[in-house]
Amino acid sequence: MRKEQYEFPLDDLISEDDFKKIKEFSRDKETPFLIIDLDKVEKRYDELVENMPFVKIYYAMKANPLDEVILSLKNKGSNFDAATIYEIDQLLRLGVEPERISYGNTIKKEKDVAYAYQKGIRMFATDSESDLRKIANNAPGSRVFFRLLTESDGADWPLSRKFGSHPDVIYELIILAHELGLEPYGLSFHVGSQQRDIGQWDNAISKCKYLFEAVALHGIKLQMINLGGGFPAKYISPANELETYAHEILRFIWEDFGEDHPEIIIEPGRSLTADAGMIVTEVIMISKKAKLNQYKWVYLDIGKFGGLIETLDECIKYPIYTECKGYEEEVILAGPTCDSMDILYEDHKYVFPDTLNEGERLYIFTTGAYTQSYSSVSFNGFPPLKAYVV
Ligand SMILES: *Cc1c(COP(=O)(O)O)cnc(C)c1O
Repeated sequence: MRKEQYEFPLDDLISEDDFKKIKEFSRDKETPFLIIDLDKVEKRYDELVENMPFVKIYYAMKANPLDEVILSLKNKGSNFDAATIYEIDQLLRLGVEPERISYGNTIKKEKDVAYAYQKGIRMFATDSESDLRKIANNAPGSRVFFRLLTESDGADWPLSRKFGSHPDVIYELIILAHELGLEPYGLSFHVGSQQRDIGQWDNAISKCKYLFEAVALHGIKLQMINLGGGFPAKYISPANELETYAHEILRFIWEDFGEDHPEIIIEPGRSLTADAGMIVTEVIMISKKAKLNQYKWVYLDIGKFGGLIETLDECIKYPIYTECKGYEEEVILAGPTCDSMDILYEDHKYVFPDTLNEGERLYIFTTGAYTQSYSSVSFNGFPPLKAYVV
C-alpha cells in the first residue's frame, strides 16, 4: 500500500490567522483546556436569525452554560431554555428577565416548579399527567407546552424514548391542562441532536398539525410550535448547511399550516456553541499492545470523563488536528483515566502522521457544546475541564 502524506482540512474549520492566535494564546497553558470564541457564538446566532427570521430563539443552555456565553446571547436578544432551578438561578443572576426563560425539563420536583413560579417563570414544558398536576398546583395559570415523542432516526446523538409522549396521551393532557386552569400554549418536540435527516421535522410538524386540529374541536386554540434543537455543527460526518435546514423546515410549516402559521420557537444548543470551541490536548503516551498489532494506542490527557462523553458509541466524531508532518497512520485514541470505557475512537480509525510523538499537542475542533459541562469533578483526581473565553 502506498503511503500518503498526512493532510487535514484546517481551512474548512478555522482561518490561518485565527489558528495562529489560538496557538499563541494557548502556548504557556497547561493542557487540557477548552477555548471558546465568543465572536463565533454570536456569528452562529446571527446566522440563525438571518435564516429563520420567523422564529423565537430559546438557547438550550445545557450545551454550554458559561456565564460569558449566556451574557453574549442575552445581549443578542436570545431567550433561554432552562432545565433546572440552578440554571434558572444562573440566568436570573446574569440579569435575564423571567419572561425570557422557559422551564423546559419535563422531569421536575413539585418544589422546583413552585420555586420557578415564585421567581416569575410562566412557561413550562410537560409530557405527563403527574408533571402537569405539579404545574397546575404550583404555577397556576402558566403557559404549558406539551412534548411529543419522536424517534430520533438520523440523529448522531439521539434524545428519544425518555422524553415526550404519544399524541394520544398529549391530546388528553391538553384538555386536562385547560380544565386545571393552565394555558395550553403549544407543542414541542426534539428530533435528536445533530440531526442529519431534515425530514424528521416534517414528521413531527405533521403530528402537531393533527393535534392542533383535534383540540380545536374542544375550543382550545394552541398558539405555538417548539421545533427543539437538532441543528448541525461541523463534525467529521458532513451535514447540510443551516440554510437548507431553515428552508426545508419553513416549507414543512407552510405545507401544514399555511402562511398564517403559529408562533415558532427553536431551542438550539449545539449549533450555537459547538463550532465556537476548541480543546487543546496533549499526547501522554503511545504504545502497542502486541508486537504484531496493526494499530498503536494513542493516549490523550482528555477522555470521556474530561469532557468528551459524546464519543460514547463513537456518536460524535470531532475533527482532530496536529501540526506534525509525516505519512498517514491509523490509530486508536483513548483517554487518560483508569476506566476501560475511556476509549474515544476504536472502530473509526483516526489518521495522524506516523511521526506523532508523546508531548505533541492535538487540537480538537467543534468542542464548544456538551464538553465542559459534562466533565467529571475529580474522577481519578483529574480536575474538571478548564475553559478560556476569548
Ligand atoms: C438538549 C436540548 C436542546 C438542544 O439540542 P441541540 O441538538 O443541542 O440543539 C433543545 N431542547 C431540549 C428540550 C433539549 O433537551
